[in-house]
Amino acid sequence: MARIVVTGGAGFLGSNLCRALLDRGDEVVCLDNLITGSEENIEELFGEPGFSFSNQDVTNHLWIPGPVDAIMHLASPASPIDFAKIPIQIMKVGSLGTHNCLGLARAKGATFHMNSTSEVYGDPLVHPQPETYWGNVNPNGPRSMYDEAKRFSEALTLAYKDKHGIDVRIVRTFNTYGPLMRPDDGRVVSNFITQALQGQPLTVYGDGTQTRSFCYVTDQIEGQLALLDSNYTMPVNIGNDVEFTMLELAEHVVDITNSSAGVVHEPLPKDDPMQRKPDLTVANRELGWSPKVPLREGLEMTTKYFAEKLGL
Ligand code: UDP
Repeated sequence: MARIVVTGGAGFLGSNLCRALLDRGDEVVCLDNLITGSEENIEELFGEPGFSFSNQDVTNHLWIPGPVDAIMHLASPASPIDFAKIPIQIMKVGSLGTHNCLGLARAKGATFHMNSTSEVYGDPLVHPQPETYWGNVNPNGPRSMYDEAKRFSEALTLAYKDKHGIDVRIVRTFNTYGPLMRPDDGRVVSNFITQALQGQPLTVYGDGTQTRSFCYVTDQIEGQLALLDSNYTMPVNIGNDVEFTMLELAEHVVDITNSSAGVVHEPLPKDDPMQRKPDLTVANRELGWSPKVPLREGLEMTTKYFAEKLGL
């Protein structure tokens, strides 16, 4: 049993992670400033022994009394629609926020677990993407504030490891979906499912031939916990390596929801990666982990969640 600080603990991934940590007997200190996270996501955790919540912005000085075994740093708006809305907050949380969390880890002698992203690979020219790939990132494009903040976070994490001997983990999270996603999150899975449930056409950006590889949230969390429990200190891809086009994703959602509204095509956003799929060799070898939930099954569970949440 450990005492673990989860930053961004009221967000989609964070709240699923808090639940999983409590279920395995860990004590959780959930930090969130509720910019994109929501108290609703952690409502049912408040009564649990071992859970506490603190409304703090990690870009300011952090105050966590008592011992801490690990800091899992998930705090960051992560949807492309947030990139244009709150770019400065995104850069601050990935720079000042990561710096403060590393300082806290150092002060507490805690392991620092950094949530990085497949976005560090940008619009990848190598496919699938192994951790050794340096990426193809536009440093001043519409996604740069997120991509560069996460790349900075990785570099700072490794600098703290080398200079201060901090025990670190770096997970590169690939597209993840499932219950506790925001219905208005703006990402493709939440958009398609909520549109289909509301009888609206699914908005396919571009011609829909771009690909992503979607990981169900329970797989993502299991992978991250396997990494935390390991002693592997270099970046690890965690995601699903079965790849789909956005048109294929739309077909699944239409089929599951019996939607008859069809699809509409909208312009492809600038710098939208054309393909993305993790090479999971390191995760398999170092963590003995691989994803289990097929897309169809995960979409069915997520559709059920959104239908209940939206009262449809
Ligand atoms: N996308 C889409 N329709 C939407 C939202 C997104 O076709 O309503 C596409 C988007 O252009 C991208 C893919 O779906 O190619 C995944 O987008 P998302 O925002 O979920 O995540 P990303 O992987 O781009 O960060």
